[in-house]
Amino acid sequence: MAVRKIIRMGHPTLRKVARPLSDSEILSGEIARLVHDMTDTLHDYGGIGLAAPQVDESVRLAMIEIPSEGSRYGDLESLELTVFINPVVSALESSRAGYWEGCLSIPGLRGWVERPQRVRVDYKDLELNEHSREFEGFHATVVQHEFDHLDGFLYVDRLTDMTRLMFESEFERLAKEQESVD
Ligand code: ZN
Repeated sequence: MAVRKIIRMGHPTLRKVARPLSDSEILSGEIARLVHDMTDTLHDYGGIGLAAPQVDESVRLAMIEIPSEGSRYGDLESLELTVFINPVVSALESSRAGYWEGCLSIPGLRGWVERPQRVRVDYKDLELNEHSREFEGFHATVVQHEFDHLDGFLYVDRLTDMTRLMFESEFERLAKEQESVD
């Protein structure tokens, strides 16, 4: 088990445009090790998504794993551990949905972000198979959040109402009064 350190907002790697991976790199032992370490890291930190730049590797690779229950986001529709390489995301409709987002690179904060609620993602897996997959609702938000990391964006860049950026302890207090996901 190799848990890597997750870099935090302010580290320059989080603001770089990550480079695409070539087919030979995808099949390399180096990327297999990176994916293995990122999986350990995701589980150790208890997150639902992790992009390679967050472990200071500026390449276009991200992973998402949403457990059906017990995550820090409450009970959700599950998504099995999926590795996305060189992903391209396209919005399928203009309507947006808002969720309270958090980020392992911005610990302790939550912010309300509205994003397209239905997207298509074209990506490669570790065996070079090409996939085209649609995501809706919270899953659509998670993929857009993770792939933003590959372009040097953080969710705080997407906030439209700064009064809806808050510390988790305040968020939890608020969530007791209203639904955490509107
Ligand atoms: Zn993040």
